[in-house]
Amino acid sequence: MFNPNEIEATPLELEKSFKALELRIMQDIIRKLKENGGEITRASDWQVYRLYELGKCKEEIKQEIQKALKISDEEISNIYSEVFASGYARDKDLYVKTGKKFIPFEENKQLQQLISSVKKQTKEKIKNITQSLGFAVKQPDGKLKFKPIADFYQNTIDKGMLDITSGAFDYNTVLKRTVNEMTNSGLRTVDYASGWSNRVDVAARRAILTGFNQVVAKVNEDNAKNLETDTFEISWHSGHRPSHWWGGQWFEKEKLIDICGLGTVEGLCGCNCYHSYTPVIPGISVPTYSKEELEKMEKEEQEKEKYGNKEYTKYESLQRQRRLETTMRAQRQKIKLLQDGGADENDILTARGRYMTTSSEYVRFSKEMGLPQQRERVTIDGLNNIGQFPKEKMLKNAIGNDILKTNKTTLTGVPDVITQVKYKRGGISRNYYNKNGLLSKQISNNNHGNAKNHPFGNKGEHAHDYIYDKNGNLLNRPARELTDEERKENGDIL
Ligand SMILES: [Zn+2]
Repeated sequence: MFNPNEIEATPLELEKSFKALELRIMQDIIRKLKENGGEITRASDWQVYRLYELGKCKEEIKQEIQKALKISDEEISNIYSEVFASGYARDKDLYVKTGKKFIPFEENKQLQQLISSVKKQTKEKIKNITQSLGFAVKQPDGKLKFKPIADFYQNTIDKGMLDITSGAFDYNTVLKRTVNEMTNSGLRTVDYASGWSNRVDVAARRAILTGFNQVVAKVNEDNAKNLETDTFEISWHSGHRPSHWWGGQWFEKEKLIDICGLGTVEGLCGCNCYHSYTPVIPGISVPTYSKEELEKMEKEEQEKEKYGNKEYTKYESLQRQRRLETTMRAQRQKIKLLQDGGADENDILTARGRYMTTSSEYVRFSKEMGLPQQRERVTIDGLNNIGQFPKEKMLKNAIGNDILKTNKTTLTGVPDVITQVKYKRGGISRNYYNKNGLLSKQISNNNHGNAKNHPFGNKGEHAHDYIYDKNGNLLNRPARELTDEERKENGDIL
């Protein structure tokens, strides 16, 4: 009925709306932190506003959830009326071939009944997900603890206000801490019985696919009964998990259960499985793959490819690709929230640099492992090109390299980037960051107003090399003359 790509893509729209909900909730919290932490400077003022603000935030979050639920209800209906109906119609072929009567989708009363109950069930599950939202926050003992949104919000703002008004930490530090806590966790839903929490988009995806697979299974079984067969072909896809080696093969129903684990979480059509099975008629149906083809395909799946000092099978490399995408989404959220909160410019640049590092690793890894990039899984967040440096901040040096304009020199920065700082008292410095984001070299077109220690060049132009110990602590920054190459590269400021 459906190929693995189609199954995987089914919950995409829903995931998107939950990602949007996640960002909006995080933004709500940051906005409140900024309004209060950025402006209220006395603890007593916060006590006056506290209850009112907490109530307002709860109300806003409730409205965001309602919005997401409305989209999800529409999407669930769409999945069954459009997506599912088209898959159903594909089975007509089998009926035509065997001369059996095919019941059109709309006329299949029994199926419509099942769909309406599965829809109801799925909507109920999604609603439950939204009723137990929160963040998993690292405790002092290192363990993660789930905090419902209302508690998280209240604790975050209370603690933040205390830190700021007592002078223990400044607003920017509290902002960074809150952004990190939220984006490292992601918006989660908890199962109170087990205490286990999952990211909302993952939970929503699971809820949709569980219902979807249930209906697909029912249709396949009806088809098998009508076609008087008990044999099924499982679909095959590349990058399947190692325990799902049986893709592409034919099995009787009983074996689907015994061998492929149909009906279990880890098995065929279970959690995160994109395999499916369709009835076939021995003697009439032709297998999609020959035995030799399957053997060859499976052998390729098991082959390991080296990247860095690790080896990856296809499945493992896809897993790593997914993890990089998750990291990139969190890093992009971080940039957005720091911007919203009015963070220090350098903190935003650093966050952007981290994203750019992951992003180029993603490009390199995908290319070397021969995997198509799936950028849409990252841009699903609707944040467009938030990871890029703003154009007005960029310039080129004399040999055409990108230079990023910043307002101060910091020891850590964006990996593999050159920044430029223009001093109020005159003079320009260029800072070179290495691949670990440490400042490794500084080139200045002047003597920092200290001619005695910089007896270099014509007007004091010189370089500093930064030397660190193995823990990254700065040991020294000796000054020296510029090399010919450095003069050429920075000819525009010398
Ligand atoms: Zn599978």
